[in-house]
Amino acid sequence: MSPTITGVEVIDVRFPTSEKLDGSDAMNPDPDYSAAYVVLRTDAPGGLEGHGLCFTIGRGNDVVAATIRSLRPYVEGRTVSSVTGDLGSLYRELTHDSQLRWLGPEKGVVHMAAGALVNATWDLAAKEAGKPVWELLASMTPEEIADLVDYRYLTDALTRDEAVEILRAAEPGRAERTARLREQGYPAYTTSPGWLGYSDDKLVGLAKEAVAAGFTQIKLKVGGSLDDDIRRMRLAREAVGPDVRIAVDANQRWDVDTAIAWMTALAPHEPYWIEEPTSPDDILAHAAIRAGQPVKVATGEHVANRVVFKQLLQAEAVDFVQIDAARVAGVNENIAILLLAAKFGVPVCPHAGGVGLCELVQHLSMFDYVAVSGSWDGRAIEYVDHLHEHFTDPVVVENARYRPPSAPGFSAAIRPESVAAHRYPEGPVWRARLGGDQ
Ligand SMILES: [Mg+2]
Repeated sequence: MSPTITGVEVIDVRFPTSEKLDGSDAMNPDPDYSAAYVVLRTDAPGGLEGHGLCFTIGRGNDVVAATIRSLRPYVEGRTVSSVTGDLGSLYRELTHDSQLRWLGPEKGVVHMAAGALVNATWDLAAKEAGKPVWELLASMTPEEIADLVDYRYLTDALTRDEAVEILRAAEPGRAERTARLREQGYPAYTTSPGWLGYSDDKLVGLAKEAVAAGFTQIKLKVGGSLDDDIRRMRLAREAVGPDVRIAVDANQRWDVDTAIAWMTALAPHEPYWIEEPTSPDDILAHAAIRAGQPVKVATGEHVANRVVFKQLLQAEAVDFVQIDAARVAGVNENIAILLLAAKFGVPVCPHAGGVGLCELVQHLSMFDYVAVSGSWDGRAIEYVDHLHEHFTDPVVVENARYRPPSAPGFSAAIRPESVAAHRYPEGPVWRARLGGDQ
């Protein structure tokens, strides 16, 4: 008898990051980094559990947690093997509940909630297999991987046959790249110096620290005031020298004309890319910004689903695709996006940071390197040095490279003592801030 998933617990965990302006940018001045944290409990001997999460920046946690709870019937009471043995079907079920799909379709809160559950089931499957998720994925056949994707709305750009072809082309080099990955780690860049709320001194100090730690790319938040951005860009350039890449990130701040004017003004300081210059829904605006100024364009952390990524690629609107492990509907949909990016020859540089996003997304980039694009040239995973201490299997970044995780699962488990302290609103961290007992 296969064990059963006996319960789906959803826990509201929040960290008071707004107090130090960690994570501050032009659109999000005071985020409290939070996770709607999912625990799939089972009756398997040894207490097998699956973990996943939705990342939010505070009060959105209420809404996401409620939505995850509304999807519980798809998972609760099922045998573990019926879920982990067919992760393509469960993903389709979770994203095609017709009454909840009405709220999207396949976008926003319902889609993120589905993603948290999909990712938790991948964690379960990888633990059962005794492998980290990246290795589990990279051990599947091209056909098995291709069957994890929902090709609906994609076939004008990517068919299942083409996906199999891409995956087969990468197959012969898998063992060699796995060995290289274990030896060298996956490239990382850091956003830690660049939060908009940081002083010039803090920016310069952290930029120098990043270079000393081996990073060859940093990122600055922009879009508050042009004069400030020109000054900060100049200070950062002086701090890191001419050879370190400085990406900039406007977090959706601008309209097309403003984006073009602003980036034309910053261009003499050689920004490497402009990230989220405008609305993540606006494919044509990204194409216009890409054509209208000299800096490369990146987006993706708020792109709702595989369909919008498809159009960004078809419209030649982006130079970099930035997947996010917890924005779309989990591992399955991100495989579709990795395959689309490989088809169009556009590098994937994932969004990370937040709570647990580095822990999760590293698995997807490592899988991409081993079994999909087969390359890490021009690619790097974002790294932000916040909140990793709360995870039981935190990321390890050494000399600006992510070490491949070796523990079975998706690296998504939060330490029990951290969960207890940061539960909202009843954990002691929040009781102290909210003023007495709730
Ligand atoms: Mg960003």
